[in-house]
Amino acid sequence: MSSRRPLVAGNWKMNLTAAQGVQLVQKVDEFCRDLTAGTRENVDVVVAPPFTAIHSASTVIDIDRMQLGLGAQNMHWEDEGAFTGEISPTMLRAARVGYVILGHSERREHFFETDEMINKKVKAAFERGITPILCCGESLETREAEDTLTFIEGQIRAGLVGISAATATGLVVAYEPIWAIGTGRTATPKMAEEVCEHIRTVLEDMFGPTIKSNTRILYGGSVKAENAELFFSEENIDGALVGGAALTADTFNPIIAAAAKV
Ligand code: PEP
Repeated sequence: MSSRRPLVAGNWKMNLTAAQGVQLVQKVDEFCRDLTAGTRENVDVVVAPPFTAIHSASTVIDIDRMQLGLGAQNMHWEDEGAFTGEISPTMLRAARVGYVILGHSERREHFFETDEMINKKVKAAFERGITPILCCGESLETREAEDTLTFIEGQIRAGLVGISAATATGLVVAYEPIWAIGTGRTATPKMAEEVCEHIRTVLEDMFGPTIKSNTRILYGGSVKAENAELFFSEENIDGALVGGAALTADTFNPIIAAAAKV
């Protein structure tokens, strides 16, 4: 295990109402408070509700002084304007959002987000003081063609074009093989480790050794209580981006516990 502090982020996707979200946040917070002293400090926990549940989650996190980070699942790169249906970085900041998931494969696939759009969003997030969680991941076809490392390198380089080493401090990357998302099929820890290690060498080439060693790289793709620890014990994996298992406290909390333990 490295010296990087693990991060467990729950991507709720298009699930949970505001009221359901508050209940979930409360249960996750209760669990985190009960983690043994000396353990809670070992892990950062982030919840990423849909936009309609962000404000209520933010309020309860603030009022109850919860040690939980708040994330959004997407945002536009402009601050305001005629972009019907979009949410801006300024709006997220006003709602005390500290993280934003960018370039998730579902956004790339269903909403045709390109590397260029994702790069604009990453830049806008950094400019507004929001930590981007930049997602990358290959299709099964790419993996079977043994093109995974080249493909992932391309996504990382394109997503971070024009960003300086000083700005890239605090970046979070999530490696999520598309074929493992929501399928119940996970990459083996070794497969994930190989890609995460490669991402680190790309970051070193782009930004130098400090960003290489300080950037947190998460694995995502059917992470659950039963397999989390295996991923977290890999040298280059610093936590998880969790989808399905983030929707209930019973399934999310054990993943937090696994990360706090390593
Ligand atoms: C995700 O969509 O980010 C994800 C990892 O989903 P799941 O955990 O359900 O595979």
